[in-house]
Amino acid sequence: MKILVLGGGIGGMAAALKLKALGHQVDLVEQAKDWKAVGTGLTLSVLTLRALWDLGIGKEITEQGYVHDGVDIYDQHGEFIRTVLSKRVISSETPSEGAILRPVLHQIMSEKVIEADINVRLGDTIDTIKSDLKTGSDVQFISGIKDHYDLVIGADGVFSKLRDLLMPEQAKPEYTGQACWRIQFERPAEITRGRMFQSERMKVGFNPCSPTHMYMYMMECVPKDQVWREEAELPQIAKTLLSDFDDVLHDYIAQIDVNTPIIYRPLDRVMVDGAWHRGSTLLIGDAVHATTPHLGSGAGLAVEDAIVLAHFIEQYSDDLETVFNEFMQKRLQRARYVVETSGEIGRMEIAGESMIARSILLAKGFEKVTNAYM
Ligand SMILES: Cc1cc2nc3c(=O)[nH]c(=O)nc-3n(C[C@H](O)[C@H](O)[C@H](O)COP(=O)(O)OP(=O)(O)OC[C@H]3O[C@@H](n4cnc5c(N)ncnc54)[C@H](O)[C@@H]3O)c2cc1C
Repeated sequence: MKILVLGGGIGGMAAALKLKALGHQVDLVEQAKDWKAVGTGLTLSVLTLRALWDLGIGKEITEQGYVHDGVDIYDQHGEFIRTVLSKRVISSETPSEGAILRPVLHQIMSEKVIEADINVRLGDTIDTIKSDLKTGSDVQFISGIKDHYDLVIGADGVFSKLRDLLMPEQAKPEYTGQACWRIQFERPAEITRGRMFQSERMKVGFNPCSPTHMYMYMMECVPKDQVWREEAELPQIAKTLLSDFDDVLHDYIAQIDVNTPIIYRPLDRVMVDGAWHRGSTLLIGDAVHATTPHLGSGAGLAVEDAIVLAHFIEQYSDDLETVFNEFMQKRLQRARYVVETSGEIGRMEIAGESMIARSILLAKGFEKVTNAYM
């Protein structure tokens, strides 16, 4: 088949790699002129780590990221609450989870895309599309290029243009009431797995994400009308927010100054709770199930989508009706579980519900996503 993958993020690159490996002709079109990932660390939950492993990049993740077992949860003064351990699902020798710097993951995946000789076009996007299940899709790009594809995959993220074009009736992304902060630090030798500190309305944690570094994440509850912040204000706001955790984080708070690179992202969510396909076009990843990062599984879900799609294309070839139906059977419920459970943990944090109840739901969530996805 001749296949268009729109969006060169984690889900789009995974889909392009899997479909090219089956012998299909794949065009990957990415709107950014400068193809790169912004951000610091990406948590690799048991779900995300396994999906990347199944994609065939486990060795690179182990060498350039950091894999470990479990996260220790404390209160804001350092009182131990519990350890949340995920089952080892890749092999008995391979730790269950980890983290990696986003630019490093992008580098690993984009090199594979180039090596696979996938036709990548940057700085372009779709303008219009006419998509039919039997006859394929006519696509007009903003560059003026017109093309015809047997299958179009929309992996264009939470603010998906393809979703707007093909599913205008679907709900738009919604701000969840929380924003996520990330700051990178050198990793002291004694931090070899996740650590999380919770107060009534905030949580802060560390994830080792490379042989030498770790990143701090912080989840803040912010009303919608206060969510916009100037970049220059971020270090001082971060220090103020972290001051509740001064007993345990004093040395890190002291390191933050005006020159510290800080990633601050309000969290949006979207769940297309029905078919993710129209005509011969299928949407995957954040375009149809953008989750908050409470279970560290959004990227993994996007990669799982790509793997499951390739599996059914291998099985049913260009019988797209069967491919899409089988795909939805496997994917909808699992994605909904992650989006809803992550959303519920966020809601509990905003409401200031008990730390014990929150960590029990987190443990339950991690246990459930351990289940096989194929
Ligand atoms: C603050 C934050 C922290 C997160 N932390 C984690 C975590 O720790 N672990 C985890 O597993 N997940 C995490 N996630 C979720 C994870 O980042 C996403 O689920 C994942 O990136 C989804 O991949 P995707 O390919 O579907 O979309 P994206 O990664 O958003 O990629 C979309 C791509 O499409 C391109 N694009 C957009 N529009 C167009 C267009 N019209 N035409 C062409 N190209 C287009 C974009 O430039 C981008 O390259 C987090 C998300 C946020 C916001």
